[in-house]
Amino acid sequence: MNDDILRIAIQKSGRLSEDSLKLIKECGIRFDNGAGKLKTDATNFPAQILFLRDDDIPGYVEDGVAHLGIVGGNVSEESDKNVDTVHKLGFSKCRLSIGVLSEHQYDGVHDLEGKSIATTYPRLLGKYLEANGVKAQIHEISGSVEIAPSIGLADAVCDIVSSGSTLLSNGLKEVETIFRSEAVMIASKQLSQTQQGLLDQLLFRIKSVQEAKN
Ligand code: ATP
Ligand code: ZN
Repeated sequence: MNDDILRIAIQKSGRLSEDSLKLIKECGIRFDNGAGKLKTDATNFPAQILFLRDDDIPGYVEDGVAHLGIVGGNVSEESDKNVDTVHKLGFSKCRLSIGVLSEHQYDGVHDLEGKSIATTYPRLLGKYLEANGVKAQIHEISGSVEIAPSIGLADAVCDIVSSGSTLLSNGLKEVETIFRSEAVMIASKQLSQTQQGLLDQLLFRIKSVQEAKN
């Protein structure tokens, strides 16, 4: 493997993609991102961009297949991979929240005792419940979490919320926020000295871009 380039993994298509590409471009790194490409070489910086599913990025960075990755803090925390979070990027802000059916009375987290909660974030939810001394059943599902209470699959949900409109349209109300998220840059713990130097250059550029916007 080439120790002298930085391989940067970003989401192939989804809510992080556009802002991730924009950030790299604003750092002055040029590359051709023709549709459908899975990787591309930068033309004016020793970097290669990999386009992946966001959920796979922490694992690739832990293994050192990618040296850097841009993911939601929610995905990075849930994955529990051994990577460094080197910078918060300020976009894709959202929260991980618990929702219950709107007509249900809710007086606090103890109301979740003995209930079942559907989520794609079992680890973060488990930590939250444990910290609050609540025993509930975590029902892990991989998508369309919000529908679970209305079809009797679970009593509550724990899912990503930004405006809250998805919860509302499924007859749910947001009752607890368990994690506040934004896009983060994660880095492998196995960088060569050259790669660490490139990362420092990149972080310097990212901070300049962010400061210029403030
Ligand atoms: P993939 O196919 O790559 O697995 P995905 O469906 O898991 O994609 P997206 O819905 O594109 O992921 O969301 C990517 C990330 O964007 C989330 O992990 C979260 O950090 C953030 N995000 C999700 N929903 C919102 C939202 N409504 N507003 C802002 N950010 C969000
Ligand atoms: Zn995903």
